[in-house]
Amino acid sequence: MIIKEVMSKSILSKSQVYPYVINPYIGCQHNCSYCYARFMKRFTGHQEPWGQFVDVKVNAPDLLRKQIAKKTPETVWISGVCDPYQPLEAKYILTRKCLEILAQNDWPVVIQTRSPLVQRDIDILRTGKDFEVGLSITTADDHIRKLFEPNVPSIGARINALDELHQAGIRTYAMIAPILPGAEHLADMLIGKVDYVILDRMNYHHADWVYRKYHLEDKLTDGYFFQTERILSAAFTKAGISCR
Ligand code: SF4
Repeated sequence: MIIKEVMSKSILSKSQVYPYVINPYIGCQHNCSYCYARFMKRFTGHQEPWGQFVDVKVNAPDLLRKQIAKKTPETVWISGVCDPYQPLEAKYILTRKCLEILAQNDWPVVIQTRSPLVQRDIDILRTGKDFEVGLSITTADDHIRKLFEPNVPSIGARINALDELHQAGIRTYAMIAPILPGAEHLADMLIGKVDYVILDRMNYHHADWVYRKYHLEDKLTDGYFFQTERILSAAFTKAGISCR
């Protein structure tokens, strides 16, 4: 793993998903097999394989303070092409510092992570004016999780994080995307811990080799995805949880 501290030119970028996005890191230690963000290699000049490098934008909080001073608050997505709570965040605390600034200035925030490290920042999340936190959970089966996301914390740890955040009064959502084998059993684990759910097939071809290697091709069909979507939508809707 090659880790570099870098000085970034900008930290608050326009996004097509939410008005703005912040990526405190370039690269991601989680290295999920299906990760769509690996296209970032092309734009950042990295030759190393995805998951083997992280650039740490050590000036992110200073930049953010300057950039929001000239703007009207709009929703910020943290993060689009890295996990803002990948293991390095425990050392660099950049996501936390950015959240502090956004909370102090009443900017709405949507966090998306696969890590229970987000629980560390509950104190700040509670002070945000319109903050919500999503944990990406792609399957209910930890064996499957290890095949596709070996470097990511367990499903149980992520569900516990959602539970603690929800109980702390923070708006929470589960991002069931990409829908992996075993996702159809997630509803019972999530009901009572989330305000809404996002379902997405996200058919990224990078993980096709994992399906082939572990003979899971029957779970890579339209039939499987639509059936899983129907099962989950019905269960969440019945529990009064909206599905997008
Ligand atoms: S956590 Fe997100 S950004 Fe990081 S490797 Fe996984 S899918 Fe990619």
